[in-house]
Amino acid sequence: MEKDIITVTSPLLPDLDEFHQMLQEIWDRKWVTNNGEFHQRFEAALCEYLKVPYISVFTNGTLPLITALQALNISGEVITTPYSFVATTHSLWWNGIKPVFVDIDLATGGIDPDRIESAITPRTTAIMPVHVYGKPCRTKEIQAIADKYGLRVIYDAAHAFGIEVDGRSILEEGDMSTLSFHGTKVFGTTEGGALVVRDAKMKERIDYLKNFGFAGETEVVAPGINGKMDEMRAAFGLLNLRQVDAAIKSRRQIAVRYREVLRSVEGITFWDDMPGVRHNYGYFPIFVDAEKYGMTRDELYFKMRDQGILARRYFYPLISSFSTYRGLPSSTRENLPNATRMADAVICLPIHHELTDADQQRVIDAILKR
Ligand SMILES: *Cc1c(COP(=O)(O)O)cnc(C)c1O
Repeated sequence: MEKDIITVTSPLLPDLDEFHQMLQEIWDRKWVTNNGEFHQRFEAALCEYLKVPYISVFTNGTLPLITALQALNISGEVITTPYSFVATTHSLWWNGIKPVFVDIDLATGGIDPDRIESAITPRTTAIMPVHVYGKPCRTKEIQAIADKYGLRVIYDAAHAFGIEVDGRSILEEGDMSTLSFHGTKVFGTTEGGALVVRDAKMKERIDYLKNFGFAGETEVVAPGINGKMDEMRAAFGLLNLRQVDAAIKSRRQIAVRYREVLRSVEGITFWDDMPGVRHNYGYFPIFVDAEKYGMTRDELYFKMRDQGILARRYFYPLISSFSTYRGLPSSTRENLPNATRMADAVICLPIHHELTDADQQRVIDAILKR
């Protein structure tokens, strides 16, 4: 019998009747984009939910990265992590910036602050870390280095929606943080994203930059881009904000169950919650030690796929191994031992708000019965 497909995630979708009512409002107003009413309400609601002072929403999660670099005039070299989704490094490339990859630490999956200083050159202007899987980077150490060398810090916080450390949003770290509201993320607007900034002046500048640089009807203050979010997606986001806490709660239950069952499996490791951190359970990465588990990561991955379980090898291959970047001096395996090791061992298990107990059991059985 053909088994149903189990996907790694599932998009958070608003109630269709409620969405339709909001679409009716848009139809009545005949204002579909350019800082419309839902756009403004969505930004205000996000500030409140995320506990941040200023946010600017975008049409996807990549343009906020590109725009942050533009807004801060970043050039030369930027220190970043190879263990991420490729958009992180692409944003540097689109700004003509040379990426310098620094290895990660195995405890957080994020850039290892102990290795940053030796990668700094006179051309270094910024650090772009990633809170990968929503696990907070070692932000204090990163900021101390940035302060010492006069560098900017832009966090790719695409996975870090709603993450708090001791009650404070992780999005307040560094100079700016970016979010992605792609359908695969914990909180989504189909496509979408945002840039979290520190002050009203920077928010104003970002709002110009995402609208071609327009600062008024006839005034263009910078070579901006079109990154504006439309009213349909802002409405979608407003509705999803009402149910994201419930979705995170469901995801948490899935994570708790995985941990209970997998803790005793030889050769499979995973992370526990960090003390004082509010997690969002966007991903459930496990790491396969082939020797101890008796099967390689890829053998387990393809076995699951044959059973209709579409787990994902996030983040394999490393960004530094893609053709655009593999020629860079910092892209060698010797420079990136931890990232290489993690990319070769990881599988992200299915986790989302609608995953049933039966489907989770199928995933667990696939891992237990080797
Ligand atoms: C999803 C993601 C992005 C890009 O977001 P889009 O909304 O798909 O453009 C950037 N960085 C990371 C780490 C991501 O996972």
